[in-house]
Amino acid sequence: MERKILIVGNWKMNKDVSEAVVFAKEFYPEPGGFGDVDVAVCPPFTAMAALKEAFTNTGIMLGAQNVFYEDRGAFTGEVSPSMLKDLGCKFVIIGHSERREHMKETDKEIGRKVMVALKHRLTPILCVGEDLKQREMGRAVGFVRVQVDKALVDLSSEEMGRVVIAYEPVWAIGTGRTPTSGQVEEMCQAIRATVAGMAGAVAQGMRILYGGSVQKENIAQFVQEPNIDGALVGGASLRAADFRELIAQAQVR
Ligand code: PEP
Repeated sequence: MERKILIVGNWKMNKDVSEAVVFAKEFYPEPGGFGDVDVAVCPPFTAMAALKEAFTNTGIMLGAQNVFYEDRGAFTGEVSPSMLKDLGCKFVIIGHSERREHMKETDKEIGRKVMVALKHRLTPILCVGEDLKQREMGRAVGFVRVQVDKALVDLSSEEMGRVVIAYEPVWAIGTGRTPTSGQVEEMCQAIRATVAGMAGAVAQGMRILYGGSVQKENIAQFVQEPNIDGALVGGASLRAADFRELIAQAQVR
């Protein structure tokens, strides 16, 4: 099944509103500039409204880096799925390893967020990935399969088919170290097989991304693999010219 490459920039806690607007001006493609690749940017919440305006009619999609699982009420500091829809969001990153580590997000909460995002027609980008110890002990594939299972278990097949999964080994995020494209392909195959076991044929249409020190110099080797459908990009999405070049290098299908 044909799956369109998706490249998503995760700005983490970087860029204020004026920096985001400068980025948008530099990043705006020539007509047809992104070719056959879907592109999304996930800024901090504070820059979302400005980017919604700056990206109008560019084809660049907006995503958030987190969401809460209730729609409104006494949840100080949280942002709801309907608020994200209101800001023009299409995607939301859920379960990033930095949130699992620093905010102690659990698989249960992550599963709840995925479900609520889907109910609001947001596309969750579910992040999974092993740490270095698990990789070295040969337990990476088993660990990631369990993470996928726990996050998706309560969804219908149709809902599972609307999730994007980002395989992000914790040891590769922001470190300059990456697994080989063969190791990533093996993991993405295992993730697809896990989803197929739960949801059947929709797994073939699901996009599975790689994330972890992706750069313009190494993106092509990943997206050439049949089960790697794009990338979640942190540091290299912060500089407009580099991110544009990375996207250009991802046009391989
Ligand atoms: C990320 O934040 O999801 C990520 C993959 O970061 P980096 O590309 O900087 O490793």
